[in-house]
Amino acid sequence: MRMTPMENAYHPTGSLNGKTALVTGSTSGIGLGIARAFAAAGARLVLNGLGPADEMEHLRAKLEEEHGTHVIYSDADMSNPASIERMVTEARDAFGRIDILVNNAGIQHVAPLESFPVDKWDLILAINLSSAFHTTRLALASMRENGWGRIINVASAHGLVASPYKSAYVAAKHAIVGLTKVTALETAEQGITCNAICPGYVYTPLVEAQIEGQAKAHNLPRERVVRDVLLAQQPNKTFATVEQMGAIAVFLASEGAASITGAALAADGGWTAH
Ligand code: NAD
Repeated sequence: MRMTPMENAYHPTGSLNGKTALVTGSTSGIGLGIARAFAAAGARLVLNGLGPADEMEHLRAKLEEEHGTHVIYSDADMSNPASIERMVTEARDAFGRIDILVNNAGIQHVAPLESFPVDKWDLILAINLSSAFHTTRLALASMRENGWGRIINVASAHGLVASPYKSAYVAAKHAIVGLTKVTALETAEQGITCNAICPGYVYTPLVEAQIEGQAKAHNLPRERVVRDVLLAQQPNKTFATVEQMGAIAVFLASEGAASITGAALAADGGWTAH
């Protein structure tokens, strides 16, 4: 198993100058990787995620300082439509526009269907799917006014294929691929694109928790869990990096990607090529 080190990712300086990006769940993992890549490309940012207020402020200020761009933070809870509405209003009040929306916030729970906790099902559907419906319906007015917009939904290889014990996650991710296509069709004539990124395993805190859980459950060493359990379906046997996800998002937000819409872009080391 190879762990890919920091990449020379594609964040062309200035390519997103003057653009405002809202990235949900951007205080950790893939969302933070995308937020960093956008900031490096010159975008103003709305950061969002859950965590202690002082840590969130530290992260916001650091991004702003490192990239010389304007960053605001919203503590909106993606399981709560009223909270999502407040976040979108705050973003428009601060920047006057939303050009790029990344629906990334997501959680996972693993259990057989019969014992899958009903409250976890509801929460996963709310955060991983319904939040994207709410942000999209609320952000579209700004994009239509400007005749330009980019919506990027962070789905998963599990938006294209299934694995056992992940009923809510797989259902939500398949559904967000469907939402991506509908959004693309409804906006295609207004300079707006909507695409889904479908990553295989990306090394983040969410994945680290799964490695620890599986190692304990199967009493296996960590290396075996990574290769034989997590990356069993991923032919390149390599975790992707959050920097790579940032690079893909910057590309999808660029002018070069203007004709890509309604796509579910696999970034899965060959998983869905099986
Ligand atoms: P992560 O746990 O590192 O980050 C999740 C982010 O979402 C955090 O910022 C967290 O604060 C935020 N969040 C969680 N619940 C929230 C809520 N109710 N309201 C607002 N924010 C909330 O996870 P990650 O691995 O970076 O995953 C990000 C996205 O990528 C998810 O949608 C996940 O399904 C998807 N994904 C991850 C992988 C992977 O291998 N890591 C693979 C495919 C898809």
